[in-house]
Amino acid sequence: MTYRNKLESQKGISLSGGYCIVCGWGKNNHKGNSLVIGSHVRKFNNILDYDKRDNIIGLCPNHHVEFDAGNITIDTRNGVCIHIDNKDSFHNKKIVGKIDHIKTGYFDYHKKSIFKGRN
Ligand SMILES: [Zn+2]
Repeated sequence: MTYRNKLESQKGISLSGGYCIVCGWGKNNHKGNSLVIGSHVRKFNNILDYDKRDNIIGLCPNHHVEFDAGNITIDTRNGVCIHIDNKDSFHNKKIVGKIDHIKTGYFDYHKKSIFKGRN
């Protein structure tokens, strides 16, 4: 069974700005709780400290799925989203959230190991 640290996840979302860093989506449920997903930059069991805020960004459900599937990644040098489909409306678009809290090298890892497009 996997234990998720909900507080770390919420901190990661909050440090990202409280919404999807790619598109800015940030809806709440009927109780006022955020529906933004705390998404891991490096995957489960890939690193010991995977469930920490410095490995977690806020993404909407659609971009969360695309990020984990390797459809999108983040180019930290230019602060843009890179999509495998260069006709996608978010390809090369400036990200709207913050990623300063993510540990150095984690996005590079995602780009090299998870992203399915050309770098
Ligand atoms: Zn999004």
